[in-house]
Amino acid sequence: MKRKGTLFVVCGPSGVGKGTVCKELLKVKPEIGLSISATTRERRKGETEGVSYYFIDRNEFEDMIESDELLEYAEVYGNLYGTPKKYVLEQLNKGYDIILEIDTQGAMQIKEKYPKGVFVFLLPPSMEELRNRIVTRGRDSKDNIEKRLKCANEEIDFISEYDYYIINDDLTGAVNSLVSIIEAERCKVKNDICKLIKMYKEEI
Ligand code: ADP
Ligand code: 5GP
Repeated sequence: MKRKGTLFVVCGPSGVGKGTVCKELLKVKPEIGLSISATTRERRKGETEGVSYYFIDRNEFEDMIESDELLEYAEVYGNLYGTPKKYVLEQLNKGYDIILEIDTQGAMQIKEKYPKGVFVFLLPPSMEELRNRIVTRGRDSKDNIEKRLKCANEEIDFISEYDYYIINDDLTGAVNSLVSIIEAERCKVKNDICKLIKMYKEEI
């Protein structure tokens, strides 16, 4: 039986650097598929339809929920975000690894439905640095920044649900840690027992 791909879920507070780390990861591991989420949030400057997100309205999003097209979904800061099921399941079934960059609510839904996933939590070097990053990114109002920091505190309470953590201090270091996690998961005996037996036992 062909080995399925591994589902990696990268989670962490807004502004910690999930997008930045995943983008860098794909430069060194281009074979990994990045799931593109659907969202009802407005497109920001520099974002591309079908690359950054699938930008849809609430009705379309609700239709996707209704027809069971989403692997998970959640309301984050007033907008809906969800992972389209089709692409992820097709790729995993073909044996390709997939990465999801989603919020904690979504990660917990995936954990329920797909416990074989590998759950990685990205942490800031400090809460002060998290604030700096959100401020420097220059995307959020003062009110929103406080909301995001409060949420970050609550999200960290769920850290025990994750398999790995990475402190995103130096970007290259954080990307290297994620690469190491992916490589380690690919070497897990329990994922490849059939292949190993076929390779080394059946010829004797
Ligand atoms: P998220 O996707 O988690 O919301 P982003 O990837 O948008 O976070 O990053 C938030 C801000 O932090 C961006 O301005 C990004 O350039 C910056 N950033 C990301 N990683 C690092 C890092 N290791 N060191 C310093 N700044 C970083
Ligand atoms: P942003 O609007 O800054 O792009 O994303 C806001 C938050 O939504 C981030 O924490 C991001 O990880 C999360 N997010 C993006 N896509 C999804 C998704 O498909 N599902 C869930 N649950 N969260 C998502």
